[in-house]
Amino acid sequence: MPQKVTLIPGDGIGPEVSAAARRAVDATGVKIDWEIAELNPDIMLKTGQTLPQHVVDSLERTCIGLKGPVTTPIAGGYTSVNVALRKRLDLYANVRPVRSLPGVVSRFSDVKIDMVIFRENTEDLYSGLEHEVVKDVVTSLKVITRTASIRIAEVAFKFAVDLGRKKVTAIHKANIMKLADGLFLRCCREVAQRHPQIEYKELIVDNASMQLVMRPEQFDVLLLPNLYGDIVSDLAAGLVGGLGIVPGANLGEKHAVFEAVHGSAPDIAGKGVANPTAMMFSAVMMLIHMREHEAANRLQAAIEKVYSGKKNTTPDVGGSGTTTQFTDAVIAALA
Ligand code: ATP
Repeated sequence: MPQKVTLIPGDGIGPEVSAAARRAVDATGVKIDWEIAELNPDIMLKTGQTLPQHVVDSLERTCIGLKGPVTTPIAGGYTSVNVALRKRLDLYANVRPVRSLPGVVSRFSDVKIDMVIFRENTEDLYSGLEHEVVKDVVTSLKVITRTASIRIAEVAFKFAVDLGRKKVTAIHKANIMKLADGLFLRCCREVAQRHPQIEYKELIVDNASMQLVMRPEQFDVLLLPNLYGDIVSDLAAGLVGGLGIVPGANLGEKHAVFEAVHGSAPDIAGKGVANPTAMMFSAVMMLIHMREHEAANRLQAAIEKVYSGKKNTTPDVGGSGTTTQFTDAVIAALA
């Protein structure tokens, strides 16, 4: 029986990169019955819902999603549908592997970077609880709970143990937010004590940002609350060649939705030059989740082979290939 997977093309470059990822997954030979669930500003306006029911229904049925980015308006408009989906399905762990890719020229090409970011995905300043107390005075609530902090720490340490990683670094600003980040840190320490075989370190987020740029090779597993996790993810992506190549997974107890770190990139949408690597690597993570390890390894190796050959890669990583040329090359490289 083919496995059912919800494919959310999204908007901006989403439809281009998700179609490319779908082609690459299908070319591995894994039988997938794709359920297409449209989710974009037009659909949201038409249905009058931030998170249309058909998308939730499909993910409830399939439990697995491959999702393109959906635009979030800045300083007004509807609330983020990406955040709404993570909260609705309680996808509490955002996992983002950031690795140097052979053949990608970046400012850090001479350094081997291989870190995995574990970002809490459901609370913090993403609570959306904002309030204008009086005119021109606004408060924004940062919510940190023991439940959410313990469970993201547990996922990070479990991953470290299972995958033979050596070190977990918790990133915080508990010198200033003594209560909120203090609670997050206490939870990380508690979970760290249960995993003595893993080295545990703490870094204040500003220092961590500098260390990431100065000595990125020292980082292994990073453990962060939601907002720092978002910012540090983009910083880390910049170290290895940009947002076009960094994938992600949103994991809950029952559901898993795989999506790139990047947004809808309206500046290049429709031009045929978006880099589908991040979506393809997200699909590799999805195949591993589906226990299709052989297909996952083959797709991973095919992408790396195209990069090593330095042909057909897209402009964001210094190439001159189109989305389609890159995808064709990956499919051709599938052993
Ligand atoms: P969001 O807030 O929705 O995460 P963002 O503000 O981080 O979005 P992105 O849409 O991710 O912004 O784009 C940031 C920059 O990275 C843009 O210049 C964009 O063109 C580039 N970029 C993002 N993704 C890709 C991609 N897949 N291929 C090529 N360039 C990309």
